[in-house]
Amino acid sequence: MCDHTLGYLHNWVYKSDIAQVLKNEAYSWNNHSKTMNSLTRGNEKLMKEDYKPSVFLDGRKGYMNMFKFCPSCGEKINWKDIKKAI
Ligand SMILES: [Zn+2]
Repeated sequence: MCDHTLGYLHNWVYKSDIAQVLKNEAYSWNNHSKTMNSLTRGNEKLMKEDYKPSVFLDGRKGYMNMFKFCPSCGEKINWKDIKKAI
């Protein structure tokens, strides 16, 4: 069975590790936010944002290059199910 290649975000993202990849991504963006906040005292509200793993699956935001079909086996990728699981 194919572990579908879902897209690209710093590196290839596979179906089996997308949850972990997006969790790490949210973690580092939140950390970045925190760092920026600590450097801009008084402007905390401007910089405040809570990144959730699902944000990175929003195609309009363009974080991740999301494939429609798996390049390894050609199967259509069921993003609906994947997004539900994130
Ligand atoms: Zn595949």
